[in-house]
Amino acid sequence: MLETQAIFLTDSQQKAESIEHRDKIRFNISKYDQTVDKGVKQYANLNLARERSKIIKWRAIEDLDQTLIRFESNFTKNGGKVIWAKDKDEALREIQKIVKAKKAKSIVKSKSMTTEEIELNHYLEKMGTEVFETDLGEFIVQLLGEKPYHIVTPAMHKSKDDVGKLFNERFGTPLNASAEELTLIARDILRDKYLNAEIGITGGNFIIADEGAIAITENEGNARLTTAYPKTHIAVIGIEKIVSNLKDIAHFWPLLATFGTGQKITAYNTLFFGPKKPDEIDGPEEMYVILLDNGRSDLLAKADMRESLYCIRCGACLNACPVYQNIGGHSYGTTYSGPIGSVISPHYKGMEEFKHLSFASSLCGNCTQVCPVKINIHELLMKNRKHAVNDGLSPMQEKWGIYFWKKTMLSRKLINLIPSKIKQFGFKLIFKNTWTKNRAELKFPKKSFNEQWKDRFK
Ligand code: SF4
Repeated sequence: MLETQAIFLTDSQQKAESIEHRDKIRFNISKYDQTVDKGVKQYANLNLARERSKIIKWRAIEDLDQTLIRFESNFTKNGGKVIWAKDKDEALREIQKIVKAKKAKSIVKSKSMTTEEIELNHYLEKMGTEVFETDLGEFIVQLLGEKPYHIVTPAMHKSKDDVGKLFNERFGTPLNASAEELTLIARDILRDKYLNAEIGITGGNFIIADEGAIAITENEGNARLTTAYPKTHIAVIGIEKIVSNLKDIAHFWPLLATFGTGQKITAYNTLFFGPKKPDEIDGPEEMYVILLDNGRSDLLAKADMRESLYCIRCGACLNACPVYQNIGGHSYGTTYSGPIGSVISPHYKGMEEFKHLSFASSLCGNCTQVCPVKINIHELLMKNRKHAVNDGLSPMQEKWGIYFWKKTMLSRKLINLIPSKIKQFGFKLIFKNTWTKNRAELKFPKKSFNEQWKDRFK
């Protein structure tokens, strides 16, 4: 068994057995469900809005080679600089060049999963640069030395009491401080960091080709501060975040808010058209957009997997997934967890090491049902399994197992060759350490279906 799979199995078993973990996740997801139920009411025809999303993203992704070039040309005209990064190493090298050129010692960051994907904080800290996460959830997980637990709510696995305890240890706040008091402490600490940082780093929710702009959506205003004070702004964005024009943004902003947090619209929605213009009083003097590929072209090349690139990272499929609710975000061992993470991670990080994630699904289809872009997530999980088999990555044991199973199933003589009692004993033995390890013992009828049929109609 590969190490990644062994770690996944151990971690997920531990989490699934933790009642405390389950209680916290159920509580937080139940709050999410309640707000989403209200949020979706803003749509007269939700199904039509979801269909439209899929069509918009389909068009943008099918034309990706042209839409990205259009963005580059328009963003450059706006005074910005575009950097193409084929993988994590190239993105990090380019960021390092900018950090060195600016002699930056302090960087503020707003929430961004693409920078998690390239492990940017770790890289910058190794260079001797201080990095401060400014989103409250990210700030909490950074203090804990953890990775984000969820793509929208990074500290979903922490209760208010957990955060109170953490702030008490780190900043000496009272253990019974209210949520408002804790937020104010974080705000006070971070205000200083914005003022002193040389560079602000963000992700981006959408890349807008026709206008040469990027869109960022957030609830805390920290992305605005991250981009308003420092003289340099770097945005690291996956190439699949492309849309054609501002009309598409008018469609996606409320949709992302509704499915991400249940809001009608997120509190702060900002469009960045390059660096500050001569008549503007604030904003960065220089702005870079790093267009990150890192495996996305691999998905684009596989026509049957392509729709996974339509994802707008709302997190709805994670919240709806019974597997995610039990094993939690960290067990996946990847930046993107939950159903969509299980679809894309094997392509971003290696099919061999991460193919097991496609099997960590009940295939109930809940993820597909909630996705605002109508991605057939559960079908893509099946297709990933097929890709893994076609790539010759199934273990020998499985290959022979399937071979003999197929041979037997196609022949009534072979099925009947072994008496039912021996077959049942064999099944129990095979599943002893897997299926029945945490489940009730398998129970078989005394006679097989075939034997019962013969008895009835002899
Ligand atoms: S796959 Fe769909 S539901 Fe899941 S995060 Fe992406 S857009 Fe949201």
